[in-house]
Amino acid sequence: MSRPSNFPPPFSPRDYVAEPTDPADERIEVGVLIVGAGPAGLACAIRLGQLLEEHPDVAERLGDVPVAVLEKGKQPGSHLLSGAVVDPRALRRLFGDGFRIEDLPNFGPVPGESVYVLTRRASLPIPPPPPMRNHGNWIFSLSQLGRFLAERAEEGGSMILPETAAQKLLVSHGRVVGVRTGDKGRSREGGELGNFEAGSDVVAKVTVLAEGTQGHLTGVALDRFGLRGEDPQVWELGVKEVWKVARPLDRIIHTLGWPLRPGKRYREFGGSFIYPMGEDMVTIGLVVGLDYRDASLSVHDLLQELKTHPKIRRILAGGERAQWGAKTIPSGGFHALPSPLHAPGLLLCGDGAGMVNIPRLKGVHYAIESGRLAAEAAFRALQRGETPATALASYDDAVRDSFIWNDLYEVRNMRQVFGHGFFVGGALASAMTISKGRVELGKLPAEPDADQPLLVTGRDSGYPAPDGKLTFDKLSSVFASGNKTRDDQPNHIRIERRVPREVAELWAHMCPAQVYEVGAEDADGTVLVELAPSNCVQCGAITAKGGRLTPPEGGSGPEYTLT
Ligand SMILES: Cc1cc2nc3c(=O)[nH]c(=O)nc-3n(C[C@H](O)[C@H](O)[C@H](O)COP(=O)(O)OP(=O)(O)OC[C@H]3O[C@@H](n4cnc5c(N)ncnc54)[C@H](O)[C@@H]3O)c2cc1C
Ligand code: SF4
Repeated sequence: MSRPSNFPPPFSPRDYVAEPTDPADERIEVGVLIVGAGPAGLACAIRLGQLLEEHPDVAERLGDVPVAVLEKGKQPGSHLLSGAVVDPRALRRLFGDGFRIEDLPNFGPVPGESVYVLTRRASLPIPPPPPMRNHGNWIFSLSQLGRFLAERAEEGGSMILPETAAQKLLVSHGRVVGVRTGDKGRSREGGELGNFEAGSDVVAKVTVLAEGTQGHLTGVALDRFGLRGEDPQVWELGVKEVWKVARPLDRIIHTLGWPLRPGKRYREFGGSFIYPMGEDMVTIGLVVGLDYRDASLSVHDLLQELKTHPKIRRILAGGERAQWGAKTIPSGGFHALPSPLHAPGLLLCGDGAGMVNIPRLKGVHYAIESGRLAAEAAFRALQRGETPATALASYDDAVRDSFIWNDLYEVRNMRQVFGHGFFVGGALASAMTISKGRVELGKLPAEPDADQPLLVTGRDSGYPAPDGKLTFDKLSSVFASGNKTRDDQPNHIRIERRVPREVAELWAHMCPAQVYEVGAEDADGTVLVELAPSNCVQCGAITAKGGRLTPPEGGSGPEYTLT
């Protein structure tokens, strides 16, 4: 059977590493450059603002723009999507004395919780397993939280540049010296249109990559500096919808089981989350490990199926879908963390570095904490007026001493045990959780998602037909993401275009945004994969399953406001 990794994309990380090319007087010079206005990047910017306010001498040395944040979305928050039930401890540390979580845009503390194991028609309540206990956590829209954090970062003196994709890593004499931003206004063939704007070299003393899941330059940096962790990184794909509902939901709900299949041969690991967003909205999402094997599995369509379950249909009855989105989540955990987390002139944080606790489905607080620690490490180096190769090593020490390291160590094999199927995996995962990671399972093997051999089971014939009320097709979902990618820009998705049918089908089913279609078959039995790149919501799944996402023109992609 085919494996997607047998058909690698035409992509070389080397093409995305360059020396600065703009003349020295035309380069944009900043002190610290942060790539990505997510919780990690914005926490880093906010903390730098605090430190530079306390040390104006250091701020002065950093020039007119001490801190800049690049964001490829239309505005901060446009590309942010999460559950988002947030553990508030990192926010408390970031904002310090006088911090009141009530002052942030939020939907209140978790009011209560239930966990169900679903079958097609029934639901069995189970006591929430320890990782699913959320007492003390708060419900947010990450997109809204991102906009709030961006305002705080700007108040603290950071310059935020939205609609700006970081395309290349600038490396000079073995040290990261900034990034080159992407061109705008190119035609599909790459020619310059009337509104063409060339990208720029943005040079910095320290560059912090906070790109989130499937970070483009993070991947490039891992290869360039040999930072890959012990295990390959693996991912989950989360597809979610926000609904306006007729009746408030009084608790958060997680479900396990149906519509995923328990058999070991399918490798279907995941579950759903249903969270209230105030009195009149609910978010519902399904997360599935991308190490699944069935080429006809579509997380988008499984979420549609999930909504037809009697229990869930009741929650949504009388309501209407307000927004839709999709994103991957790194799930390799502790053993897949980059090592080290820095390179000369460079720091990695948040999801880009894989800092997610998968059994808890939580990464926002690790993103914020790692962003804060990255700011402190960058500041320490800048205060000493130096950025030699080892100056940023204190970041690794700080992460090792933090709750991020401790938490991820405790659940270090959690993702791998589900390769044994739902029941055995669940039992092993519980043992690890109860013992706080002291149950020693040894180091379990991990394989890249794209190495899984494919099965074809025809399960797509069972997906519900879209009715436009409860269940939707992929194109109406893309519309509900607010995606406004320009149709005639260059293709930003790198895949092998001629592949065996099952690989093409895998991509067509997997992509929640209907970017791929199975085209004409050749005499040798391979098929052509047709592409509609402007549908892409930049979820990152293609990078996990054998292709490579690169950032399209800045300002492209979804415009999330509630996710
Ligand atoms: C479906 C789902 C449910 C989740 N549920 C929860 C939950 O309930 N609780 C929880 O704590 N965590 C949850 N998580 C995980 C959480 O959302 C992430 O851990 C968190 O968002 C990571 O923050 P980050 O800043 O590292 O990355 P992101 O939030 O992904 O932000 C990265 C930002 O960088 C920008 N960017 C990326 N590359 C570039 C580039 N090259 N140039 C310019 N800009 C760039 C992106 O556009 C984005 O705005 C969930 C994730 C998903 C997908
Ligand atoms: S094409 Fe875009 S939306 Fe589709 S899987 Fe790839 S990254 Fe996700």
